[in-house]
Amino acid sequence: MDSIVDLLRELVAIPSINPMGKTEASGKFCEKDLAEFVAAAMKRCSIDVEMYDVSPNRPNVVGFVDVKAERTLMLEAHLDTVFVDGMTVDPFAATIEHGRLYGRGSCDTKGALAAFMHAVCTLLKEGKKPKYNIILAAVADEEFGFTGAEALVARGLKADAAIVGEPTELHIVRAHKGVLRWKVRTAGLASHSAYPSRGRNAIYSMAQVVTHLQEHAHWLQSLPPHPLLGSPSLNVGTIEGGQVVNIVPDRCVIEVDRRMMPGETAADALRLVKEALAGVPDWEFDEPYLSAAGMEVAPDASIVTMLSDAVAHVLGNVVVESAHYGTDAGQYNRAGVPSVVFGPGNIAQAHTAGEFIDITQLEQASKIVTRLITA
Ligand SMILES: [Zn+2]
Repeated sequence: MDSIVDLLRELVAIPSINPMGKTEASGKFCEKDLAEFVAAAMKRCSIDVEMYDVSPNRPNVVGFVDVKAERTLMLEAHLDTVFVDGMTVDPFAATIEHGRLYGRGSCDTKGALAAFMHAVCTLLKEGKKPKYNIILAAVADEEFGFTGAEALVARGLKADAAIVGEPTELHIVRAHKGVLRWKVRTAGLASHSAYPSRGRNAIYSMAQVVTHLQEHAHWLQSLPPHPLLGSPSLNVGTIEGGQVVNIVPDRCVIEVDRRMMPGETAADALRLVKEALAGVPDWEFDEPYLSAAGMEVAPDASIVTMLSDAVAHVLGNVVVESAHYGTDAGQYNRAGVPSVVFGPGNIAQAHTAGEFIDITQLEQASKIVTRLITA
């Protein structure tokens, strides 16, 4: 295999933009081209590869290294990136300057993908075996719907532990919140605004809903905080309603974002919200369009201690912490696979106009993974 820098440059050069719910599923959008490249690269290292569509043009790639070991470790990273609009560096040129590699996805999270692929492939090409069976997974749609991870779990994922690659600056993230997003609608009855009593105002109904949600949000924040993650939260982020000013509005819609604690389910969160809205008329919930579980593994879980040993060996210094963003790790933990989040790059660079990754960290990540799967 090429150097890890060459590999990452190739990964960055292939667009894999998440369409984020929009319909243009062609051209620079979708993960297909990158998935095909990743699958071919794995096959060149004699890794068995399975590739299947999660949705059209949006595949997961799953490599298997079966060494008949007792335990199986999954190394997972997502293929998709966010949009490139407004970027101040060429998103696909993978330019290198002052020890940094620039481009969309360099940090979030093609850097981690490169580190995982490079560590496993180099080992195999040297004729050595990892200590564990390895699942090397590159999945679709982390940035929007988490459907790639969902599909991987639905197809019967069997692993004893997992590392989910995201830019954590080589810190080990063992807990983060989950996120739930959905729309709330109020229905009214339209009438001429000169005769408001003939109608029923959906905006007035929504005003009551919003006030109750604000109180509910305060209550959530007053709950006893989790030692790493604080309390759950709720935000009403958008509101839209009415047609024109001289008609009593018959519809109003808001979007709600709820951050869930590890172990809390979407059903739990929705039940609490519905209780908070008891007595408020005319509202209904859409099915959530995003539901990603939170996660927490114990500080002494074997994936934490194994990875800590490898990090200590390469860097000397180990940081175990929590994060404020959601990842695929929530799905795997919920499916019974203890999973931590770990990778090169700084989350402050993710999704930015000048996204880059520090090449030293990229190389360290590969060394850490090599140590983890061989020591
Ligand atoms: Zn990411």
